[in-house]
Amino acid sequence: MNVGKTELLGLNSDELEQFARSMGEKKFHGRQIYNWIYQKRIDDFTGMTNISKKLREMLINNAEISLPVIDAEYRSKNDSSLKFRLRLKDGNHIESVLMYEPGRTTLCVSTQIGCQLGCVFCATGYLRFKRNLTTGEIVGQVIVSSRHGGNRITNIVFMGMGEPLLNYDNVKKAMMLLSDGDGLAISSRKITLSTAGVIPGIVRMSEDKLPCKLAVSLNAPDDELRSRLMPVNRKYPLKELLPALHRYEKTTRHRVTFEYVLLGGINDSIGHARKLKKLMGGFTAKLNLIAFNSIEFPGNVGKKKLFSEFESPDKETIDKFMAEVERPGLTVMLRKSQGGDIAAACGQLCLHDSRE
Ligand code: SF4
Repeated sequence: MNVGKTELLGLNSDELEQFARSMGEKKFHGRQIYNWIYQKRIDDFTGMTNISKKLREMLINNAEISLPVIDAEYRSKNDSSLKFRLRLKDGNHIESVLMYEPGRTTLCVSTQIGCQLGCVFCATGYLRFKRNLTTGEIVGQVIVSSRHGGNRITNIVFMGMGEPLLNYDNVKKAMMLLSDGDGLAISSRKITLSTAGVIPGIVRMSEDKLPCKLAVSLNAPDDELRSRLMPVNRKYPLKELLPALHRYEKTTRHRVTFEYVLLGGINDSIGHARKLKKLMGGFTAKLNLIAFNSIEFPGNVGKKKLFSEFESPDKETIDKFMAEVERPGLTVMLRKSQGGDIAAACGQLCLHDSRE
């Protein structure tokens, strides 16, 4: 870390203009630096060739752009996903996952180091919460992964480590940089924020008209079971969450996507499916079903599950659940998780070294 230097990664164009002014330069230079960082994804001041040599030297002496550093990468043998373990400026680590599909490349980004919410089926929830990521650390994941992963990133999902709505201000600012045509230029229709159901954050999203789609991780059709699986439900129960989502849909005119992780023998019965169908009665929504990803690490004998004793349901149970919950106006999809063999799938991010 360079003590005394101004960190530029995460600043927006107004802030970079102010920074240029603070160095006695014209403010349009701030805009130039903005384009170099986010559009051209350059972190080396000497490469900013449309800026005078004198200003470049001033930048070298007074500023820095601290991108996260990839210190491990894990490539799935079963699909095309690629997980990065990234080292931050303060030595902490986070993970991001790139997923390649025909016509699109999606990056799953983290927003916190660890998570306070402790959903019992999620490996991240078992990590000690350390801190929120800064705006620069969030957009830095996109810059580093796009440089390293080859393809242009077309889609972003805020579904990595942490609850994005508990780091609202930094996530909001990152979202603005990501969706700005002169910034990282990712279409707001291709950015999705996934929450465990933090109601005040959902309210702020609709007030701020955040440029993204909203997904809510549901995982149970009633408060009793949901509180057991997701302790956050005790604070924001379904009876308050669902009306908040109705208000969100009405204000933003955006459809909410619901996610439901199927846990064998826990939330996957026909009875659960019927309750879920009733619960979602008032929504014209999308429901993504995800079969639970048990955590298995290469090298272990047999099936070693850390963190929980949950199982993925069998195919017949999943098919029956899907058939029961389907109705007109509700699009139900079984989402295929990628990266299960490298602990990169939904609920598996926990900084485990999958090479061990
Ligand atoms: Fe946190 Fe999301 Fe994992 Fe729940 S599912 S513990 S909110 S990272």
